[in-house]
Amino acid sequence: VMLKDISVKEALNIILEHSHTTSTEKVFLNESLNRVIAEDIVAPYNIPYFDNSAMDGYAIKSEDTKNATKNNPVKLKIINEIPAGKLDEIILKSGEAVKIMTGGIIPSGADAVARVEITKQEKDFVYIFEEVKKEKDLRKSGEDVKQGSLTIKKNTLITPAIMGMLASLGRAYIKVYKKPIVSVIVTGDEILEIDEPYIPGKIRNSNGFTLLGLLKQFNITPLVTEIVKDNKETLLCAIKACLNSDIILSTGGVSMGDYDFIKDIVPELGFEPIFWRVRVKPGKPLFFAKKDKTLYFGIPGNPVSTMSTFYNFILPCIKKMNNAPNLDLFTLQAILTENIKRKDLRSEFLRGILTKEDDKFYVKTTGSQGSGILSSMIKGNCFIYIEEGLDDIKKGTIVTVKLFNEI
Ligand code: AMP
Ligand code: MG
Repeated sequence: VMLKDISVKEALNIILEHSHTTSTEKVFLNESLNRVIAEDIVAPYNIPYFDNSAMDGYAIKSEDTKNATKNNPVKLKIINEIPAGKLDEIILKSGEAVKIMTGGIIPSGADAVARVEITKQEKDFVYIFEEVKKEKDLRKSGEDVKQGSLTIKKNTLITPAIMGMLASLGRAYIKVYKKPIVSVIVTGDEILEIDEPYIPGKIRNSNGFTLLGLLKQFNITPLVTEIVKDNKETLLCAIKACLNSDIILSTGGVSMGDYDFIKDIVPELGFEPIFWRVRVKPGKPLFFAKKDKTLYFGIPGNPVSTMSTFYNFILPCIKKMNNAPNLDLFTLQAILTENIKRKDLRSEFLRGILTKEDDKFYVKTTGSQGSGILSSMIKGNCFIYIEEGLDDIKKGTIVTVKLFNEI
């Protein structure tokens, strides 16, 4: 393929342009975490549904407690008791109180709750030792969510709090975007399975596992994960078997070597090659192609290239397919605490360590930045993103940082 090298921004734009939104499915609430909701949720009723007590205590008329003090309490007659969940037709009159538990329905006539701490009960009477203001310790119907209000917007990521809210609204099933179907092919004659005995000259397959972890972190279990030798026929066969995927990821075999077949054979299967090579470090020889709805990412085989390419190019694609609200890693500015020497003008995703001190963010590199240094992804929690064209960067400069792990 003869395609010209493109910039990070161009590559990302092209990828997103080709990322179709997946169709939707109904999932059980239990299975909804981290999915993107594909419908607007309008509250069918108020939450809370009814005025209820925020405290254990006594439902009262606030005016009855006027001038109550420690030495001069008011005395009210207890006419009933309301534990949470009990519905009673009680009408409270002046001079009366109803014993109530947290969550209990406020009886009509009452306008406040005297919490148990400011009271003393004696048989059928309660003494209240403080003035209680109107609406004190009441939870008003609709104070959390109003009936008819747009409570959760379409295209929101479902968090634990949203799961709770959906449960409060009685939604056992929710429409979400289908997770894209992803297949992973690891290529290389030198690659050993995890359980094969070690053979000199060979290496273990780490990319298969970093990709598995990355996909799982974002809720996806790959349909296929297999190791394939650098052999045209075998590769063709393996890729053919993945054609019903939304996304095919392969690692290795996209550089300039004699056995780097990916960019030659993928078009043989009817894929349109869209770009090969991005002006970026690591991961320059990224290959991108499309056939119908299937996107093909030929990821360079070096372990850091694989991870960086996933975070910075493939994850945005997956998120776009799900209409997720944020496509990018969480991005912020930080103060660089060391000088960075630039060898060429390509964009760079350097592995960095972001720290916070006195409300300021500082970042330094993890040290050696070779694309085979997988430990840089363990030491680091972020990429320091250097835009293309920039020369050496001096200590103290404000740089852009994209977080991949917690700081
Ligand atoms: P390639 O992109 O196929 O030229 O591979 C580049 C480098 O990454 C080579 O040193 C490979 O041995 C290494 N590599 C390729 N695939 C893997 C893998 N699955 N796990 C670990 N290293 C790999
Ligand atoms: Mg290879």
